[in-house]
Amino acid sequence: MMRTILPGQTIGIIGGGQLGRMMALAAKEAGFKIAVLDPTLDSPCGQVADIQIVANFDDQDALEELAECSDVITYEFENIDYESLKQLCNIAYIPQGAELIRVTQNRLIEKQTIEAAGVEVAAYREVTNEEELTAATEALGFPCILKTTFGGYDGKGQMTLSSTEDFQKVAELYQTQTCVLEKFVPFEKEISVIVQRNAKGETRCLPVAENIHVDHILHESIVPARTPEYVQLNAMELATKIADSVSLIGTLAVEMFVLEDGEILVNELAPRPHNSGHYSIEATRVSQFEQHIRAICGWPLATPELLKPCVMVNVLGEHVVPLTQILLKYPDWSIHLYGKKEAKHKRKMGHVTILTDNIDITLDEIEHSGVWSN
Ligand code: ADP
Ligand code: MG
Repeated sequence: MMRTILPGQTIGIIGGGQLGRMMALAAKEAGFKIAVLDPTLDSPCGQVADIQIVANFDDQDALEELAECSDVITYEFENIDYESLKQLCNIAYIPQGAELIRVTQNRLIEKQTIEAAGVEVAAYREVTNEEELTAATEALGFPCILKTTFGGYDGKGQMTLSSTEDFQKVAELYQTQTCVLEKFVPFEKEISVIVQRNAKGETRCLPVAENIHVDHILHESIVPARTPEYVQLNAMELATKIADSVSLIGTLAVEMFVLEDGEILVNELAPRPHNSGHYSIEATRVSQFEQHIRAICGWPLATPELLKPCVMVNVLGEHVVPLTQILLKYPDWSIHLYGKKEAKHKRKMGHVTILTDNIDITLDEIEHSGVWSN
């Protein structure tokens, strides 16, 4: 049953990281109250929330407490326990449901779901032992990538194979859990589309972002993506097709590979706002966070028109000190830091968004600032 949630009411968020924080900030602008569940006190989201529940995500009592003080519940990450979330759906209003969590937690089910929507993914095979690995590499050829079905992120839980000599090296992956072997995609670009949908079936796509990874972690998003317009229209169409096919409510980020001939293969899905959509806070008329809140609160969706091209660059642990030293020199950089206590190496600490009329000059400016030089 669809409900309309209005300012003054409380939005509960499972997960207190930066995505929860930016959702909360967007929601608070419209006058909502925020309750957050996270294992640590004063998490990035906890710092801006009205109510903090400090407990583990599988703590049934804590989830019930969240349900009691929230008029609607959402989540900021997909590794919530599926069964707990399903149970929570019985006592709380969770318009996103639990099904998409089940799908996106498992790479195999995720790929099957994308294919069922009529959208293509890289050729793949399930691998649980050495015989299956041998058969799969024979079918797909080298190079290829072995990925665990559960729990991978930022390139963790995956390894590239260039020949049968790598079989030994990857055994640890399929010995611990079911894996997927994927054909290596010689992509020209990686792009992403963030599609958002409400219970009435209205959908909106954010402008297509071009994503540049360093060490498997997102480094920069460039918007609009530097691909032909027909590729971008196709990318948005594919994302919308998947969103409709899973009856999405809320946000779905769709990571894609663009091949030399313009063909698109979907890489993976995230059922939440995505790092590659952070640029939307400044560069589009409605941000991915505000639109997410609108979608789960049963509001009509806004038009995320691009106001200006931009570059978003991630600030990892090692970038915080150099950024702090130079940021006063760049008055037009929008600085976002998430309030994380420890600036660990490679940890996502914040991001910078720069609106620009000239992407190349801005990319140069970022490079020459010295913040990201190693
Ligand atoms: P994660 O969950 O770590 O984001 P991804 O499946 O998105 O896992 O893989 C991380 C990155 O590795 C991708 O963004 C891409 O750069 C590269 N990659 C993953 N799969 C393939 C593939 N089949 N072919 C080529 N590159 C890939
Ligand atoms: Mg990814």
